Amino acid sequence: REKQRLLVVANRLPVSATRKGESSWALELSAGGLVSALLGVRQFETRWIGWPGVNVQDDKGQKSLSSALEEKGFIPVFLDEETVDQYYNGYCNNVLWPLFHYIGLQQEDRLAATRSLQSQFSAYKRANRLFAEVVLSQYQDGDVVWCHDYHLMFLPKFLKEANSRMKLGWFLHTPFPSSEIYRTLPLRSELLKAVLTADLIGFHTYDYARHFVSACTRILGLEGTPEGVEDQGKLTRVAAFPIGIDSERFIKALETDMVRSHIQKLRGRFAGRKVMLGVDRLDMIKGIPQKLLAFEKFLEESPEWQDKVLLVQIAVPTRTDVHEYQRLTSQVHEIVGRINGRFGTLGTVPIHHLVVMQDRSLEFHELCALYAITDVLLVTSLRDGMNLVSYEYVACQNTKKGVLILSEFAGAAQSLGAGAILINPWNISEVAASIEDALTMKEVERKERHRHNFMHVTTHTAQVWADTFVSELNDTIVEAELRT
Ligand code: UDP
Repeated sequence: REKQRLLVVANRLPVSATRKGESSWALELSAGGLVSALLGVRQFETRWIGWPGVNVQDDKGQKSLSSALEEKGFIPVFLDEETVDQYYNGYCNNVLWPLFHYIGLQQEDRLAATRSLQSQFSAYKRANRLFAEVVLSQYQDGDVVWCHDYHLMFLPKFLKEANSRMKLGWFLHTPFPSSEIYRTLPLRSELLKAVLTADLIGFHTYDYARHFVSACTRILGLEGTPEGVEDQGKLTRVAAFPIGIDSERFIKALETDMVRSHIQKLRGRFAGRKVMLGVDRLDMIKGIPQKLLAFEKFLEESPEWQDKVLLVQIAVPTRTDVHEYQRLTSQVHEIVGRINGRFGTLGTVPIHHLVVMQDRSLEFHELCALYAITDVLLVTSLRDGMNLVSYEYVACQNTKKGVLILSEFAGAAQSLGAGAILINPWNISEVAASIEDALTMKEVERKERHRHNFMHVTTHTAQVWADTFVSELNDTIVEAELRT
């Protein structure tokens, strides 16, 4: 039997393209949350539709890039610079992203955002329409169309208007906030109504799904049921589908010579000290300052640990052109500097802060080795849709059985809560105490906690996630047909 065709539509294609000549392109596959999740899915014939991340205006460029991408099953949606600025930087990243993560922008930014809101919202709809046109040009009868994330909340509506029989799912990779927060969003109703045209709506956790349903009942006055949201007899199914990782990829990597020799190197470098690790994008949602302050408090209160532990903090810069992010970066540098000044010696410092730049980016084998030698992973997100770093750490810890300290505000807390030490990142004293508990935890307990998490990470993989979502979508449509 032929594989079912799956059209995955996301803002960015999982590839970076560099132009080498008038008609020649270098393509590099990029790894990352959604990307590694869907590359793990082999049971469908998958095609990707999305923005290639470069501005290509000339015909020759667009044609040659399209055919280079085509070979990999990627179909580009070309957006001009103005649209990218208004839709992507504007409405997506300055309005939806902060709101969905409960982040208040500075008052002045917020006011500025309000002023440009109408034009940004138009650009958002315009971009979603361009995505719809490309999807429709690729669509064949029976295909499953899976739209991803807050960038594409209008896409289900535009697609259903063109073809009401299309099998359509939408999945949100961020948190969906409490309806009390969501209702402050201008144009809140239009967005909800647009998403509700999908057949199936998915979130990482049950809480996010519940927030979405209450937003629909409170703002649109619709009926929420255990199955989803009902509007005049038409049901939109809403459910939780926690994402996972391709755990095999990490487990296999640990057996390669490259990772092994890197592990030896790191062990030598950190000999005699316990290693704590943080791996985060330099984003407000990750609670990096909170993490550093908690580590400082721990060092303060436990002088006996001062030369026996270090924190390796890998920071991946994002949105470096945005003022708020620049402020965060210098704040982090300042705190690291202070702590290293206070507790460092001539020989060594307690915090190794590594900002991963393009030219010295962390390779996959280095990341795996770091995960493998780490005693305690520290995740202090203030809000985080899921947090895959915690999953990757667990996958790499089958030998060492280290401890995961995990914020209760990360989606992963719902699935790895049994094995992790859960913390409220705003409570610095609690986090400092958890660091002590983690560093002194007996092996029996570490093994038991790791067993829980490892079982979860290796069974709830990216592949299972995608398979479950698409099966549920197929079932939802069969049930809807039976009902009418
Ligand atoms: N990661 C990366 N480059 C690095 C360090 C980490 O691409 O230098 C990856 C990491 O392996 C993980 C992803 O970035 O897969 C981060 O995903 P997560 O869900 O933890 O957070 P997000 O950045 O999506 O908010």
